[in-house]
Amino acid sequence: MATFKDFRNKVKPNWCPGCGDFSVQAAIQRAAANVGIEPDDLAVVSGIGCSGRISGYINSYGLHGVHGRALPIAQGVKMANRDLTVIASGGDGDGFAIGMGHTIHAIRRNIDITYIVMDNQIYGLTKGQTSPRSEMGFKTKSTPGGSIESALNVMEMALTAGATFVAQSFSSDLKELTALIEQGVNHKGFSLINVFSPCVTFNKVNTYDWFKQNITKLADVEEYDPNNRMKAMQTLMEHNGLVTGLIYQNTEQPSYQELIPTYDKKPLAHQDLQLDEAKFKEM
Ligand code: SF4
Ligand code: MG
Repeated sequence: MATFKDFRNKVKPNWCPGCGDFSVQAAIQRAAANVGIEPDDLAVVSGIGCSGRISGYINSYGLHGVHGRALPIAQGVKMANRDLTVIASGGDGDGFAIGMGHTIHAIRRNIDITYIVMDNQIYGLTKGQTSPRSEMGFKTKSTPGGSIESALNVMEMALTAGATFVAQSFSSDLKELTALIEQGVNHKGFSLINVFSPCVTFNKVNTYDWFKQNITKLADVEEYDPNNRMKAMQTLMEHNGLVTGLIYQNTEQPSYQELIPTYDKKPLAHQDLQLDEAKFKEM
């Protein structure tokens, strides 16, 4: 049986020292081993951005795709090979700006993949611009006077779009993050895991200390019930979205694949084609 070390390859990540994405990489590797899959059972598909490099740093099938398009590719991979565990990943700019249309429709489609977003509330790869997750007043090169747009509350958005698995974590909390990725992979449907993953180089506001001071862990909220969608929404609004843990899960709704009438039939490429030789001779 594979251990997390089997999901390591020889490529050295070129993230800045201290970047939150290192922990997300480690959590994916640990979670993959913990759910009992082998490296050739896993495909990691990523978009563009610092976090998009992650698909090259894991020993599995991987595809570093196009900006904002990790989800269409990942969904195609899953439909073509349903036996693969498919993880899509990228940053907040990738998934919640250019890729937002795909994010919403993948959520409501409930296709059985896991989407991990490394949310640093900034564009890191292009050296620090305001993202859809940046708070109002956030100063960067693109908003030197402070952002005049409000930050997107992605967890609330996911709930209203019909998500069946909504979770959030903090890259420093490797234990919680690993457990949530395991739960997301085991969930029968689309699982969205937003990870606060600090950009130590360009975001000097939302730092590790800032998150430690502002996050509320749902594990510490008395009688929190992740099966109650209304309560999930209320809790998010009360904490301005700054909660970590399993926010909501609906285990009743079938996945996209389960609702396809021909789901029990293998895709054409996987069938043993029975060629009618007589017909070929007629042609
Ligand atoms: Fe990480 Fe920011 Fe460096 Fe990119 S620029 S690798 S997000 S710390
Ligand atoms: Mg970002």
